[in-house]
Amino acid sequence: AKGSQVRVRFAPSPTGNLHVGGARTALFNWLYARKMGGKFILRVEDTDTARSTRASEEAMVRDLKWLGLDWDEGPDVGGAHGPYRQSERTAIYKEMADKLVAEGKAYPCFCTDEELEAMKKDAEEKKLPPIYRGKWARATAAEVEAAKAQGLPYCYRFRVPSNQEVKIHDLIRGEVSWNTDTLGDFVLLRSNGMPVYNFCVAVDDALMGITHVLRAEEHLPNTLRQMLIYQALGFPVPTFGHVSLILAPDKSKLSKRHGATSVGEFRTQGYLAPAMINFLSLLGWNDGTEQEIFSVEELTTKFSLDRITKSAAVFDKVKLGWMNGQH
Ligand code: GLU
Repeated sequence: AKGSQVRVRFAPSPTGNLHVGGARTALFNWLYARKMGGKFILRVEDTDTARSTRASEEAMVRDLKWLGLDWDEGPDVGGAHGPYRQSERTAIYKEMADKLVAEGKAYPCFCTDEELEAMKKDAEEKKLPPIYRGKWARATAAEVEAAKAQGLPYCYRFRVPSNQEVKIHDLIRGEVSWNTDTLGDFVLLRSNGMPVYNFCVAVDDALMGITHVLRAEEHLPNTLRQMLIYQALGFPVPTFGHVSLILAPDKSKLSKRHGATSVGEFRTQGYLAPAMINFLSLLGWNDGTEQEIFSVEELTTKFSLDRITKSAAVFDKVKLGWMNGQH
């Protein structure tokens, strides 16, 4: 049934507030889903239990609702859709990791932190990249059983194929390629059973039938690991689009010293949601004309992926104030 329908997602980590960058990512995905008659999914990436909080998730949900960025699927919560939460899907990641182990594409690793540290130091001295090339990649079944019998904690590592070219055609960045030799055997599941970001993101995007992954440029390097996971599990690969950074007016990295940068702050300062949407939509997109005032309705028909800009967007609060007066 999924067929060729567009399916996109916003996948925030609930470790803080919804910032303009995240809100822009959510908006681009939402606009594309609405324009294409597709589905927009909200997935909370909360497997980093030390940093994730329910309060942050609730604040993000509140701000997305205020902006009007509604999602189409999710567990039933009193007749409405809740977000998917990765912390509630750990059995799925475990099953996928076990499948990879059974096929020899992943393996348990019993290295201690001290051993890993020593390997890193050794690699540094030999001027080799600090990546895992440890003994558990070559351990026999008997050695693994013996370590398990001793009750030693272990993680699961992905067995990275050597010297393989991996290529994507990014909607915004164009052709991007990597060689797998730049990568060590990376962790899929930590010893506490929690999956790492790159593993659950790939599993979920595949199982949720995501067709287009539109997200911040900072995730581009992660795409190599995710591609390897798609390949190993035989999943179809989505189309990627890595959206450029948002910079402060002085072209420096946007930060606290530039004042309000979270949607919640603008909301409580009395800005209007349609003005906020208008403002966010032009952070890295334009319709090819000089038009700057758009209604939400108009954006859902005009938005297109091929007009997302490659250069960084500039965050200009003067413009937001001006747009607020126009809505
Ligand atoms: N959870 C990631 C983040 O908040 C996003 C992952 C993604 O979009 O692939 O940065």
